[in-house]
Amino acid sequence: MKWRQLHLLCRRLNTGINRSLCVGYSKRTSVLRNYCSAVSENNTHHLNTTRAETLSAPMAALEEIANVTKISDRVIRVLGQNPGKFTLQGTNTYLIGTSNPYILIDTAEGREEFIPVLRNALLTEAKPSNPILPDVSDIIISHWHHDHVGGLPTVLALLKQLWTSRNPSTPYSPPRLHKHPLPPRVVSEEEAKWHILPKILAALPEDLYTAAPSGEVLHVLADSQVLEPPGTTLRVIHTPGHTRDSISLYIPQDRALYTADTVLGQGTAVFEDLGLYLKSLNKMLKLGGLEGDKESDYDILYPSHGPVVAKGQETIANYIKHRLDREVQVLQLLAVLPEQTQGLSDSQGQWTTWDIVKKLYASYPESLWLPAARGIELHLKKLEEEGRIRKLGGEGKDVAWRLVSRTPTPSL
Ligand SMILES: [Zn+2]
Repeated sequence: MKWRQLHLLCRRLNTGINRSLCVGYSKRTSVLRNYCSAVSENNTHHLNTTRAETLSAPMAALEEIANVTKISDRVIRVLGQNPGKFTLQGTNTYLIGTSNPYILIDTAEGREEFIPVLRNALLTEAKPSNPILPDVSDIIISHWHHDHVGGLPTVLALLKQLWTSRNPSTPYSPPRLHKHPLPPRVVSEEEAKWHILPKILAALPEDLYTAAPSGEVLHVLADSQVLEPPGTTLRVIHTPGHTRDSISLYIPQDRALYTADTVLGQGTAVFEDLGLYLKSLNKMLKLGGLEGDKESDYDILYPSHGPVVAKGQETIANYIKHRLDREVQVLQLLAVLPEQTQGLSDSQGQWTTWDIVKKLYASYPESLWLPAARGIELHLKKLEEEGRIRKLGGEGKDVAWRLVSRTPTPSL
């Protein structure tokens, strides 16, 4: 089946795909796999990948976002000029603070069109009220994906140029760069191709950034750390799952939560690790008033892709529900013996990943079962880590599973 045919088939199967998002490379094969993942999860909009970036939705379904938007007294959104199937309207970068020096969140992908837009924002909406102070004191990188870090060299060059033209005889104090560290792990060859940040950092001219006390380029962000641009508080919340280094930022003055790619402005996000992702969503939810913590309440979300989310906590709760619905389906299936083993003794009854996919996606074309298997694998991995199911052997989609307990209940 040709790409276009399958694309149309996917859309027929799930009109909700218009608002669904995919993650993947720009290669069509990966796009296809991830796109179909979205479809095969149907209403759960459950997308999975271990790959670099991000999203997909027909552009016509997207809300228009201006290049520069003053969202509040302390938040200016600057669009990264990288619209596309995988980035929706493009990556949202944010200037935070009531005056300069601002904190900039993310640097977008590195498209040359972004620099004049950011320059314009810094000369108009974010015009420095303190000309003898830099425009930007700190840059926070939300996570390692290339559409968030690729603009770092050109953004840093712009900031120095703005300073030099304004204060030609005063030494420049370049911004600090902050990121939550990635835990040590094996990076696949395919993923490494997209992991461009180490190369970018290695090539940065030293006069463009202020190094950490350790001498490293990056200052290490930690959970609960507070940064304070003028008139504003930013509290770091480590929210791994989309990637292991993903952070969110709580902005109490706006009753807002910056969510990076963990929760998006349209559709739903993808993740590397379902267990971590659900824990992070719950962490974000508990931050809000649902758990009675009025000290850290919020209403709205500032995502890295798409518009501001008005009903922040409700949206996060829906994200969690979508994932748990699928988990319950898997557990319910494992609680009974697969049809092909009926008649055998209980000890022989077992489900393979592929059996589960075939059963849960029975009403979908077989061409969608393979991409669906990736999502199911992530659910099974989470349940295994929780000790709720056991791997009995096999490889790949033929891994066999059974319940440790045959009482299916949802879990977080
Ligand atoms: Zn991302």
